[in-house]
Amino acid sequence: MSSSQTKTDVILIGAGIMSATLGTLLKELVPEWNIKVFEKLEQAGEESSNEWNNAGTGHAALCELNYTVEKKDGSIDISKAIAINEQFQVSMQFWSYLVQSKLIRNPEDFIMALPHMSMVQGKDDILFLKKRFEALTNNPLFQGMEYSENPEQLKEWIPLIMNQRSSNDAIAATKIDSGTDVNFGALTRILFEHLQSRNVDIHYKHSVDNIKRTSDGSWELKVRNLNNSQVERHQAKFVFIGGGGGSLHLLQKTGIPEGKHIGGFPVSGIFMVCNNPEVIEQHHAKVYGKAKVGAPPMSVPHLDTRFIDNKKSLLFGPFAGFSPKFLKTGSMFDLITSVKPNNVLTMLAAGAKEMSLTKYLIQQLMLSKEQRLEELREFIPNAKLEDWDLVVAGQRVQVIKDTEAGGKGTLQFGTEVITAADGSIAALLGASPGASTAVPVMFEIFQKCFPQQLKEWEPKIKEMIPSYGLSLMDHPDLLQSIHHSTAETLGLTKKKEPVLSL
Ligand SMILES: Cc1cc2nc3c(=O)[nH]c(=O)nc-3n(C[C@H](O)[C@H](O)[C@H](O)COP(=O)(O)OP(=O)(O)OC[C@H]3O[C@@H](n4cnc5c(N)ncnc54)[C@H](O)[C@@H]3O)c2cc1C
Repeated sequence: MSSSQTKTDVILIGAGIMSATLGTLLKELVPEWNIKVFEKLEQAGEESSNEWNNAGTGHAALCELNYTVEKKDGSIDISKAIAINEQFQVSMQFWSYLVQSKLIRNPEDFIMALPHMSMVQGKDDILFLKKRFEALTNNPLFQGMEYSENPEQLKEWIPLIMNQRSSNDAIAATKIDSGTDVNFGALTRILFEHLQSRNVDIHYKHSVDNIKRTSDGSWELKVRNLNNSQVERHQAKFVFIGGGGGSLHLLQKTGIPEGKHIGGFPVSGIFMVCNNPEVIEQHHAKVYGKAKVGAPPMSVPHLDTRFIDNKKSLLFGPFAGFSPKFLKTGSMFDLITSVKPNNVLTMLAAGAKEMSLTKYLIQQLMLSKEQRLEELREFIPNAKLEDWDLVVAGQRVQVIKDTEAGGKGTLQFGTEVITAADGSIAALLGASPGASTAVPVMFEIFQKCFPQQLKEWEPKIKEMIPSYGLSLMDHPDLLQSIHHSTAETLGLTKKKEPVLSL
């Protein structure tokens, strides 16, 4: 074992979509800054960002019912849906800028247009969906959404779901054609290729084992080269902890007060993947249902057309599950080693509060293939066991923290940016809405960590994101022109005839 030491402007830990996005933005804003990346796996986008490890939904709240909750008075709160949609517009503008400027090519390799639909059954849920539709439809962000309870119309939209269904089954759906399927794995790899071409120093098979502050306020990372077990020391003025599920442990190692009293709870995902090309061909949409009572929001069932490995696929899920690992490639000790004296009470409080979630996860874990098929049959009445295989998706580490509204040990389902008071280090925790919001999340980091530079960066940011600082909902003309130009640049207006999986 030997040791070497180097200093740089920025270190990004982890080669997922988050580090890829931050690195790419920084290279546009301050090309002269030196950036290093350390990733413990062999290549970029292998953990949650990988196409098989997430659902690939470009989350714009077009179909996810958990983003619009019914209030006590029966009205629908659409504020979260608006915020998520606005965030996705920011990501879309940045990807479009990258293609337009020829910094990346072939958008069809990572994004495609795909109708987003919500589908519900039963009187109460149909009433909810109708109210949701009415609340959203007049908002410019959700223009083009259609609603139907008519079986003939639904047969046209979702033949696979309507096939062999009894005419007594009351079903309603909404459909909006401006939805997307995003291959975040491909996008991550494309962005890392781009970063490599811009002289970013990327080290695969390098694990960051420790982080500590130096006397001049920078950070020193202890990095293990997994090829030869050599230990290296690398210093940087700014560090981004983009380790996905690995971020909590790294944040704890920094010792910053902002990282205390925070815990993590891992929830794993399992998808059913269709292996029958005839079935795959009968569906062309992402169809989100309603979460079962007691189910966490990330386990809303959905039946999705996906484009993975240049093939059309059909996935159903995710089923939630429990594994103490924080990364798919993590350790069985991840959960237990994340419990520290400063967060043990927070974790215990969450354990007591979330008994129903624990029970739900255990039940999900125990489901047999036949029981999973029963859930699938709520979507495809004649689904056959032999047409479907199981794949294990990524791990989501839900943040647990003490909040004013929820009290001690409250489980969070969103994405959390934790930064040191002086802005020299930032960590990203949590998973939802995840990769779709990678670009706006980085602006949150800029606001917290680079407030001085942000003013200077603004003209370039506005060139990349024309709506920067504006609410698109309040600027319908701008929204329309952005919709039009991003769809054109990203190839979303073309009817794609992808390679069939036959
Ligand atoms: C089942 C499931 C479904 C999802 N569906 C969607 C969806 O439909 N739409 C959506 O937008 N988002 C979705 N998400 C969320 C999305 O996948 C994540 O938010 C996103 O991929 C996180 O990216 P990341 O870069 O933070 O993490 P990751 O992609 O996990 O990357 C982190 C990287 O850091 C590396 N690393 C960790 N620790 C270290 C260390 N100590 N040293 C060096 N390297 C380290 C890891 O090896 C990994 O490569 C889903 C997630 C799951 C699990």
